[in-house]
Amino acid sequence: MDIAAAPCRTASAVRPLVGKGAIVTGSTSGIGLGIARALAGAGADLVLNGFGDTAAIARLRDDLEREFGVTVTHSGADMSQPEQIEAMVVEATAKLGTVDILVNNAGIQHVAPIESFPPAKWDQILSINLSAAFHTMRAVIPGMASRRWGRIVNIASAHGLIASPFKSAYVAAKHGLVGLTKVAALELAETGVTSNAVCPGYVWTPLVEKQIDDQAKSHGIGRDQVVRDVLLKNQPNKRFATVEELGTLTVFLCSPGADSITGIALPVDGGWTAH
Ligand code: NAD
Repeated sequence: MDIAAAPCRTASAVRPLVGKGAIVTGSTSGIGLGIARALAGAGADLVLNGFGDTAAIARLRDDLEREFGVTVTHSGADMSQPEQIEAMVVEATAKLGTVDILVNNAGIQHVAPIESFPPAKWDQILSINLSAAFHTMRAVIPGMASRRWGRIVNIASAHGLIASPFKSAYVAAKHGLVGLTKVAALELAETGVTSNAVCPGYVWTPLVEKQIDDQAKSHGIGRDQVVRDVLLKNQPNKRFATVEELGTLTVFLCSPGADSITGIALPVDGGWTAH
């Protein structure tokens, strides 16, 4: 091919988020970390959030800054505490200049029948998996709307679309998060701010890795059988999604190609919710 006729990939096409500031909650591990890496790769400056070893988090920040040439800070705010969430957004705005991208990803799980589900666990799951997103959104929306650009990506779950037994709080919170996402999309429809939910099935993270060993022990079966017959029982493609796939998808939802995509709850579940 003649070089002059070759397609030209401009810097903005390769790194579409240069100059944007992003908060990713729960990004010291798993899906949140995968999304943070992808956003940094696309040029966004980051505020990471989540728990973990202080030295390991400092190393993570340094590595991301060095690898992608972006600014990375960390907030240890507890997503179950509204006043800590508010302080995180104030601090993030000071560090990033503007919060243009918000990814609500922090989440926890507890499995028990409704009648023996600990009420304190219910409250904790609702606060981290649902109410935290309300608090981050209400803090960042005025700035996004006034600049007429913003991206809100809420990491829900296939359990935001369908139910499974013994996961009452998780399913209720994730359905609620999908609802909140849609309301924000409608309220912000003319402002240039989009609000979307991503609904993963099983994703390969340290959390899932640990469940394989636990389930293998409790069922007395091998790891391969746990993966196929227990964890991926309802996931027709019989493979885990990866954190890299979720990172790529999030960058797409933040890119100009997704300007008209708002209010969706997008399954990333290998066909699970097609049943
Ligand atoms: P993970 O346990 O690997 O990571 C969770 C992150 O949230 C960590 O960084 C942790 O420190 C942080 N976190 C937990 N409690 C917090 C709190 N109170 N305040 C601040 N941060 C807190 O989990 P993951 O598998 O990566 O899951 C991330 C999100 O994706 C969750 O919302 C989860 O419900 C959702 N999800 C996961 C899967 C899966 O298969 N892994 C599937 C569907 C949805």
